[in-house]
Amino acid sequence: MNNVKEILNLITDPSPGDIALIKKAYSAAKKAHEGQTRYTGEPYFCHVFETAKTLAELHMDAETISAGLLHDSIEDKHLSEDGVQKEFGEDILFLINGVTKLGKLEYKGMRRHAESLRKLFIATSQDMRVLIIRLADRLHNVKTLEGHPTEEKRKRIAMETLEVFAPLAHRLGMWHLQGELEDNAFKYALPEEYKKTAELFKQKIKFDERFMEKARRSLQKELAKHDMKPVAMSYRIKRLYSLYKKFTYKKNIDEIHDFVAIRVIVENVEDCYRTLGIVHKLWRPVPDTIKDYIAMPKPNGYQSLHTVVFTGDGGIVEIQIRTAQMHEEAEFGIASHLAYKEVGDSVDKSHKYKATPTWIKQILEWQKGVSESGEFLEHLKMDFFKNRVFVFTPTGDVIDLPEESSAIDFAYAIHTDVGQHISGAKINGKMSSLDNTLNNGDIVEIITNKNSHPTSKWLKHTKTTLANRHIKAYLAENDTSIFNFLPKIG
Ligand code: MN
Repeated sequence: MNNVKEILNLITDPSPGDIALIKKAYSAAKKAHEGQTRYTGEPYFCHVFETAKTLAELHMDAETISAGLLHDSIEDKHLSEDGVQKEFGEDILFLINGVTKLGKLEYKGMRRHAESLRKLFIATSQDMRVLIIRLADRLHNVKTLEGHPTEEKRKRIAMETLEVFAPLAHRLGMWHLQGELEDNAFKYALPEEYKKTAELFKQKIKFDERFMEKARRSLQKELAKHDMKPVAMSYRIKRLYSLYKKFTYKKNIDEIHDFVAIRVIVENVEDCYRTLGIVHKLWRPVPDTIKDYIAMPKPNGYQSLHTVVFTGDGGIVEIQIRTAQMHEEAEFGIASHLAYKEVGDSVDKSHKYKATPTWIKQILEWQKGVSESGEFLEHLKMDFFKNRVFVFTPTGDVIDLPEESSAIDFAYAIHTDVGQHISGAKINGKMSSLDNTLNNGDIVEIITNKNSHPTSKWLKHTKTTLANRHIKAYLAENDTSIFNFLPKIG
């Protein structure tokens, strides 16, 4: 148990240097946490070992895995920064410091929590691997919540996982990790809802699995008739928390058609479309359910063909068709780009890690103006992790905004100057009122005029903190209220 081989076995063709590095980090971590136990009673080393294992499963590089092993050593004062730098180099030290929470003495309570997140985002903006280590760390923490001494803390950690960390994994396109974080936290964050959902899940799975297997076999036969041999075929069963979320807007479980999906993995893109054709010849598609995310990938890069079909025996099934590479990317998201295998020389490598997604930069940008910790957390949840809409600029760039955002939010997301001079907006080619809310896929064009300026009315139609802050700042600087034109009394 907890043998370094378990980690090394997860890596495809590690170089001798990688093996040596991971072994060294393993021994150093083992020694550092010697005799230390977690609240669960197990040796502390288990925690850093599992964190590193998750990173290896995500195909992260040897440095990240090593930093995973060592991630609590400096925080727990077992190792010094100088020592780590000397033994493991600057990059690993940076990764460890990035995930290290702030000291209990510097800040307390909510403040400490908010400041720790800020620090995490700053480090992440310099190296994406920091965030991935933090997510792997959180996964093990949330998997072992059972043993947590206080109910209150258990609930807080679970809630924070649902509100902040799982959405972060989602934003990184790491579906698998997101699902694991959510399902493990769900039980403790919302115990009643969890019980209810789990019960419904059990009933539905019994019903669905029966005719799903039948549908899978018919499809396989039909594909064979057309000389199509899929690389793999499987089901994907909706995860508990994602099922629960779906309930919040679909009241009836029978309306949920993607509870179980058949996943067909094929050789190449042509085969994806051919397979779709065969599926539709076999079964009639449910209108408006065909999604071509291959030609039009989701903003986080997700690619696949989706369709929902009537299987003829009263069943309705979702079918997802994609290539093996698309599948890998869908499961691992950004991690599949940072992955071990793809990393070439070191120049290329550092470039890769330092390519920060725009939304991380946005968090850093607007958090500067937020001084209250509570406010910071609220806005983080609202602006970045609530349901998002993805809209396009006329040149095809994607801008990602919270639901119910308006063209005003869109303009400020493009550039402050654009926001400050909006005079009108075209949505999908038509002139539109500035207070209209934007929908997924809208193409938005902002018309500016140097003589146009923000008005207090705009505040009612903005959803993002960014727009709100700029408008307020403008209004404060240029007090344009009509009372200015009245003669002053007294
Ligand atoms: Mn940890």
